[in-house]
Amino acid sequence: MKIGFIGLGNMGFPMATRLLGEKHDVVAFDTSGAALDRIVALGAQPAASPKEVADRAETVLASLPTPAVCLEVATGATGVIEGSSVKRYVDLSTAGSQTAVQIHDLLAGRGIAAFDSPVSGGVGGAEKGALAVMVSGPRNEFDLVRTILEAIGRPFYIGEKPGSAQTMKLANNILAANVLVATAEVVVMGVKAGLDPAVMVDVLNAGSGGTSASRDKFPRAILPRTFDYGFATGLMLKDVRLYLDEARALGVPVEVAETIGRLWEAAARDQGADSDFTAIIKPFENAAGVTVGQADTPSV
Ligand code: NAD
Repeated sequence: MKIGFIGLGNMGFPMATRLLGEKHDVVAFDTSGAALDRIVALGAQPAASPKEVADRAETVLASLPTPAVCLEVATGATGVIEGSSVKRYVDLSTAGSQTAVQIHDLLAGRGIAAFDSPVSGGVGGAEKGALAVMVSGPRNEFDLVRTILEAIGRPFYIGEKPGSAQTMKLANNILAANVLVATAEVVVMGVKAGLDPAVMVDVLNAGSGGTSASRDKFPRAILPRTFDYGFATGLMLKDVRLYLDEARALGVPVEVAETIGRLWEAAARDQGADSDFTAIIKPFENAAGVTVGQADTPSV
């Protein structure tokens, strides 16, 4: 099948690579020439705009950084909406349900089926084709979309209501944001008390305190101090803010989420929006006067 792909960043590149591996023809666009060159080197065909991608492919996927970029790429003057061939649009970004509804309504007006389809599982999950893929949009088009999405992970049909997959994704991500800061705070406490952080992580993972942070983020990017998990602090903060907006609009309790939100706002200020989100541990380390590393990494 010929598939369009817009946004070849940390997540888009491995996802598009898997589509190429499934023998799909991929037509690609990214505003970054380097990102586009990287996927063209693997066999994708380059396009000059989202519209051109949508002129050349009936199904277009996108993985983009912010709600504003998602809206512009889908519905702007040179957006997917202006394409002559596109029949369905699948947005894999985390953009919140309000943006998903806007995109859905504008594309539906042109006869294009829009799916919001955010993903979870990080760069590693994208590389392995092991993402959780949440999908909301027209049921009658879902079976075809599912066959494409199975190349990148396990699709879950959340519902026909546009934006409901975004709500599911924000619920997932506020928990991921929560357990990463909570695990960072606790491991820093243990190191200050003289525990070996690698042993701590092993025990947490064998016991009842294990989290997605102790199983994945600590061994991969925090204990080796590489801070290269592949998800920017600014994008994590975007997801936390989107969750808070949506939860406040619903009038539900947000006490835990507000605390988490303050910590991520501070991390983005201290470490920079472009820092890897695993750097969230550094303000805790600085406040405690310790460094969390492998047993052979000298501690302060
Ligand atoms: P990224 O910043 O690495 O990649 C975004 C890509 O979009 C970049 O290559 C950028 O050049 C491109 N881009 C920006 N504006 C564009 C435009 N107008 N037209 C075309 N291309 C444009 O971000 P990422 O980490 O790959 O995340 C993408 C989305 O996936 C975000 O919504 C993020 O929240 C979500 N997400 C990320 C992860 C992760 O672990 N990185 C996991 C799950 C979901």
